[in-house]
Amino acid sequence: MQEKLHMTQHPGTNPPSFTSIITGIIDDNIFLKDSYCYPRGGGQPGDTGMISNSDAQVKLLETLPGESIIHPLESVDGFSIGDEIKCLIDQQRRNKNTAMHTIQHIFSAMANDLFEAETVGNQIGEEQTRIDLLFPDRDKFMKSDLEESVNSVIKSRKNVSIHKWDRESILSHDQMRHTKFMDRIPRTITELRVVEIEDIDLCPCAGTHVDNTSKLSEMEITNVKSKGSGKLRITYQLKNG
Ligand SMILES: [Zn+2]
Repeated sequence: MQEKLHMTQHPGTNPPSFTSIITGIIDDNIFLKDSYCYPRGGGQPGDTGMISNSDAQVKLLETLPGESIIHPLESVDGFSIGDEIKCLIDQQRRNKNTAMHTIQHIFSAMANDLFEAETVGNQIGEEQTRIDLLFPDRDKFMKSDLEESVNSVIKSRKNVSIHKWDRESILSHDQMRHTKFMDRIPRTITELRVVEIEDIDLCPCAGTHVDNTSKLSEMEITNVKSKGSGKLRITYQLKNG
């Protein structure tokens, strides 16, 4: 069973370069014994980087989820099953996605507290992130209130920590958010990773996060667009981005 090391790395910034063994090759995708790469998921893009063995060095394209993480290469020429490889993850890209994803937690929590809005979709990007919110009353949305609340959390130096909790503890916790998707996770997985932003947010999540909100830049909302009845698609970027 492949070990998905990004799940154990917190904070999820500056992922280390690592060596591993190729356990499978399908088309231009390789599979590794273990990997620190974050595979695309939960709205967060997968890692990219470089993969090399003693003969070849090629670009690692966006890593994708699977029982074993899919590492698509520009070309698998020169790579064979059993090879030891070295993987260099693009740290700058990961760090930007980690910051944007952590801000998304704060954004979704504040939108829920202020307007009872539910996050129904998100797409994290290095430059821009968009979040789809479903409101009981969309007219109550105030852009400046949401920006101020999110930035106030960012400035208040809140710790971000990860826990491993069983399903019952997660589902019975009265502060827990965003548990609907848990139905889609196989029952055989009894413990899930929970991310906690001190006093602000608590939810199951497999993404990558900073360890304190002081590591984040303030954000600004750059676009708000209707997405049909009760829904808004809101785009934000970093103020100093
Ligand atoms: Zn997360």
